[in-house]
Amino acid sequence: MRDGRPRTRAELIQLTGLARSTVGARVDSLLTAGLLKPAGESRSTGGRPPVRFAFNPTAAVVIGADLGATHATVGLTDLDGTVISDRTVELDIASGPAPVLDRVVDLGRELLKEAKRTRADLAGVGIGLPGPVEHSTGRPASPPIMPGWDGYDVPAHVSAGLGGPVLVDNDVNIMALGEHATVHPHVDHLVFVKVATGIGAGIISGGQLHRGAQGAAGDLGHVAAPHGDGVLCRCGNVGCLEAVASGPAIVGRLERAGVEVQDTRALVDLVRGGNTEAIAEMRAAGREIGAVLASTVSLLNPQVIVVGGLLVQCAESLLAGIREVVYGRSLPLATEQLQIVAARTGGHAGVIGAATMVIQHVLSAEEVERQLANLAS
Ligand SMILES: [Zn+2]
Repeated sequence: MRDGRPRTRAELIQLTGLARSTVGARVDSLLTAGLLKPAGESRSTGGRPPVRFAFNPTAAVVIGADLGATHATVGLTDLDGTVISDRTVELDIASGPAPVLDRVVDLGRELLKEAKRTRADLAGVGIGLPGPVEHSTGRPASPPIMPGWDGYDVPAHVSAGLGGPVLVDNDVNIMALGEHATVHPHVDHLVFVKVATGIGAGIISGGQLHRGAQGAAGDLGHVAAPHGDGVLCRCGNVGCLEAVASGPAIVGRLERAGVEVQDTRALVDLVRGGNTEAIAEMRAAGREIGAVLASTVSLLNPQVIVVGGLLVQCAESLLAGIREVVYGRSLPLATEQLQIVAARTGGHAGVIGAATMVIQHVLSAEEVERQLANLAS
């Protein structure tokens, strides 16, 4: 019923192949739980017209929080991921988990109050963090720009203030979920690449986020780049993609060539302003990313590669470099239908993705089963 289309009991029996009594009992308990609502009557073929039911996305609300290095966006959504309201504040992730998460809890409470909802209406909280996270426990794992966060029990802290469940993942996975849910809902195989201060990827495979054994899947930034020879990476290795194609890497090369550029944001301005050296460097970085993505294409055969992150603001030259190598290096069968596009969700991708992570969990078959069993007892 999640597609929102109203259906009658008879249609559900036909769709599922289940017995009339089973479907009847299930519809009744889902109505009691509020997850289904009556949606008018279908046209009668004589006799009493059959009643139709539809998924009720307003049955509960979800809080999605997208935490970056220097700011946070917290949003309230309903059960189909529609943002009801949101708020962006300046917030220094390096000030440590307790003050940052307290602020997230306060903002979440404000949004609930404004929407005239209570903690009882809250289905869960999703949080995206700018560093590696062990998704199964919600604890950050040695995050480089987040002092004091290593191993911190984020779900316990947030659920003490707002109620649970609280799910946590890294920002790239969250953005991949958000972009998939809002822009490419019918694409089953998608790779989202974030190009900013770091480089990482979120992989949607068979319609589901693929996290790997420890949640480290998609860590493209530390794959060896073709022209990375001898360049030292912040991870301690040499020749990583991030060391040659991230914002700071491009900025460093331009500075050494005598171009005045302070940081990644200034680099974006240079490219948009038509600076030819900056454009050439951006395109070269695109080719390095493309070479690594060509392997990804051969390995995963995605339908869409979405490029997001700060550098997508000068997408043209970056995408040109990526396309040049991916289409040149991958087999025709893998690239026949492949689209390489810029991200479109922009500022809301994180909040929508974080909420989507929670919605997928609370509306999974097992969780719905558990909620109905609780309600019955
Ligand atoms: Zn590295």
